Amino acid sequence: MRKLFRPLPLLALFLITPPVVAQQSTQEGALKAKAQQLAQRFIIIDTHLDVPYRLKMHWEDISQRTPDGDFDFVRAKAGGLNAPFMAIYVPSEIEARGGSSKPLADTLIDMVEQLAKDQPSKFAIARSPADVTSQFKKGKISLCMGMENGSPIEHNLDNVKYFYDRGIRYITLAHALHNHISDSSYDSTHVWKGLSFFGRRLVLEMNRVGIMVDVSHISDDAFYDVMNVTKAPVIASHSSCRYFTPGFERNMSDDMIKLLAKNGGVIQIAFGSSFISSDYREREDEARKEITAYFRSRNLKFSDPEAQEYIRKYQAEHAIPFATVSQVADHIDHVVKLVGVDYVGLGSDFEGVGPTLPIGLKDVSQYPNLIEELLKRGYSDKDIQKICGGNLLRVWSEIERRAKELQAGS
Ligand SMILES: [Zn+2]
Repeated sequence: MRKLFRPLPLLALFLITPPVVAQQSTQEGALKAKAQQLAQRFIIIDTHLDVPYRLKMHWEDISQRTPDGDFDFVRAKAGGLNAPFMAIYVPSEIEARGGSSKPLADTLIDMVEQLAKDQPSKFAIARSPADVTSQFKKGKISLCMGMENGSPIEHNLDNVKYFYDRGIRYITLAHALHNHISDSSYDSTHVWKGLSFFGRRLVLEMNRVGIMVDVSHISDDAFYDVMNVTKAPVIASHSSCRYFTPGFERNMSDDMIKLLAKNGGVIQIAFGSSFISSDYREREDEARKEITAYFRSRNLKFSDPEAQEYIRKYQAEHAIPFATVSQVADHIDHVVKLVGVDYVGLGSDFEGVGPTLPIGLKDVSQYPNLIEELLKRGYSDKDIQKICGGNLLRVWSEIERRAKELQAGS
């Protein structure tokens, strides 16, 4: 490289600056346009959206643009989202209270089926990678289903086939509390020290039937148990890298990501700020402690109007800066550097993390912002296609293939 130390006259600087800025904004414009184009051209699969639970709490016609929420047909189309996994989320408390979890899972599945029945030109249920691909060509949004919490299995291995027949294609073994299958990363009890005996049998039955094992939410011990037992690749439907959030067991450590990749699986990066940024996590923890201390000092319950008013005022006065698209891309980069581009994808957790989504990734219309960030970092079109959905399709196809082999007895 030639070095030019000759100082430029001041006037020359003024003459040079505007064209450089103009050139930069043209380049940025071109990247933005390319990101939009790729979002429409590639199949985007997002493995975790809490749409069914949102609709259960408050019904809205999501085939139209809705004023609230992170997902609707119009914004999904704008963002290029083709195959969202609808989370059939069953709260841990139901099993912990001794109740039956299966009826709620069935209700939520009914609801997703109804969405497709009501709007057949816009939505269709997808039960396989082939469904996703053919419905993408028809311009329909594929509604895939994953069950967040294995509690609806209710100690009965026959329920694996039952939920497969209902369209469930992954099961997150546990959620916030341990259940009869597995320990949870959010639960300090660790009663099973990993998977229960039934949990081990369940993983094998899921392999045989062709349902993906989802290791998000489970404890580290349970993850290693799954990896010892499974006869097929597994996924993390919505987890990020613990490298950026030390001590947060809900995210995956480097060692776990390596093992997941070695077994041919995929980690689908969750977007919520507390999954992405340790600074956000620390400030959120601090706020929680202060609010709890205030409640205790005044003997307030969370639902009391005075408590709600305090939270509102506290949040207004102590706004915590959200994570950014660039930080989400850092998580993708980290997985790529660790194990390569074939083992990472998208599992936003839209509708599940409230307003804590990163700036630039606030709803399903904004996937192109992430693609633009990846383009800026030099990712090729082919790499981006893999991250957007190609990797997940590969794993899902492999699980189908493996299930056939296992059913044939090999
Ligand atoms: Zn979750």
